[in-house]
Amino acid sequence: TTAEDFNAWGGKLLRWISDYRESCRDLPVISRVEPNYLQKALPTSAPNSPESYEAIMSDLDSKILPGLTNWEASNKFFAYFKPHASYPAVLGETLCAGLNVMGFDWIASPACTELEVVTLDWLAQFLNLPDCFLHSSPGPGGGVIQGSAGESATVVLLAAAKRKDADRSKMVVYISDQTHAIAEKATMIIGTQFRSIKTSPSNNLTLQADDLEKQIKEDIKKGLTPIAVVATTGTTSSCAFDPLPPINAVAKKYDLWVHVDAAYGGAYACLPEYRDKFVGLEDVDSFCVNCHKKLMCPFDIAALYVANRRPILDALSLQPEYLRNAHSESGAVVDFEHWQMPLGRRFRSLKLWFVMRRFGTQGMREHVKNGVNLAKYLAAKIEASDDFELAAPVSLSLVCFRWKGRSEEDQKKLLDAVKATGDCFIIHTKLDGKIVIRVACGGIEQDEEDIDYCFSVMTKSARAL
Ligand code: PLP
Repeated sequence: TTAEDFNAWGGKLLRWISDYRESCRDLPVISRVEPNYLQKALPTSAPNSPESYEAIMSDLDSKILPGLTNWEASNKFFAYFKPHASYPAVLGETLCAGLNVMGFDWIASPACTELEVVTLDWLAQFLNLPDCFLHSSPGPGGGVIQGSAGESATVVLLAAAKRKDADRSKMVVYISDQTHAIAEKATMIIGTQFRSIKTSPSNNLTLQADDLEKQIKEDIKKGLTPIAVVATTGTTSSCAFDPLPPINAVAKKYDLWVHVDAAYGGAYACLPEYRDKFVGLEDVDSFCVNCHKKLMCPFDIAALYVANRRPILDALSLQPEYLRNAHSESGAVVDFEHWQMPLGRRFRSLKLWFVMRRFGTQGMREHVKNGVNLAKYLAAKIEASDDFELAAPVSLSLVCFRWKGRSEEDQKKLLDAVKATGDCFIIHTKLDGKIVIRVACGGIEQDEEDIDYCFSVMTKSARAL
């Protein structure tokens, strides 16, 4: 517990982390432990006397390590959306814990608030976001770090509800059947209804403005109050992009808040070839991108941008006596406590700042582009193979495919067989009612050899069945 102890063991722990990163390439990617394994392995109550770091580290190796699913194993992890916590970001995160400031208002730690303002403006510029989202632009917009895309959706939908003078239970939020479940969950939390609008493969599973308007009209006839629509740029199942301009036009007509969930896809706005997919952002109310997905930061850091901060402040500001201070009352500072659900907040911008400085925008762009190239590489292998066929257009770093000519049951069997090898973690989704296998490429160390390996595991597993 002394500084000396901290230095000695801190160094060892950083070494442990980098050794883990190297060695997890050779471990089974999905943990093989049985449920409750850890309760059985650890004492039922905390130790009465202090224990040594040696003892703690020894348990880390023998008890915690086997229970890890190895997300950082770039050669084997292709599930969900492959994230990557880069070393600079891990150091930034460590610093955040070491400083332990609670930046709820400006005076609680001015650097905490101000670095967030600066890095989110940097990120907005890197992603070519419209000026309305920048703190440095003259308007009322700006960015704020939330824990997750889910929290971000909850905060903005709360603001959208607050804007309307109606019974909460009669308010409606519009999503599509491809929208991530976070949006539905946000409506559960704030107590509104939602309508999930059906998409079709003929429109690449995207939310169509005509269908949205039809549903809005029906709901208004029933005496309901439409409040918001959630569009997605990079859907979870197939990385499709909802067309923003027509959705914005309908939203404007009925005075709906437009939130863009770009949790995964937002990072790709840094690539010139994807820029047209984000046309229309200048007319939306809010936009969220997860830095803990494609932007090399460890969980949790979601950048939420709003074109106007007022509705969020109206929904979430409280000023108890014990938090009153001259700076806040002067109106000259940002107090992020009013932009979020909890009061306390960590110095999360540090990890993004470390990433942006250590990689530079060039390095970050190369990282994003690497995933795109690897997805194209894998798609070409799939198209050329006798075993598999593509199930959706390849978008961003995601490849969706099926075992050619096989039943739904066979797709599941193949997934199970691949997982059982311990050499490749992929998951499935359903597109247009059919199971598809989903490979999310990317990761800072991932290269074509890793894709070859993934492809060979899938091919061998299919043939063995
Ligand atoms: N939105 C989309 C489009 C996603 O793909 C995901 C996760 O993959 C999420 C939201 C959930 O993000 P979070 O865990 O930050 O809430």
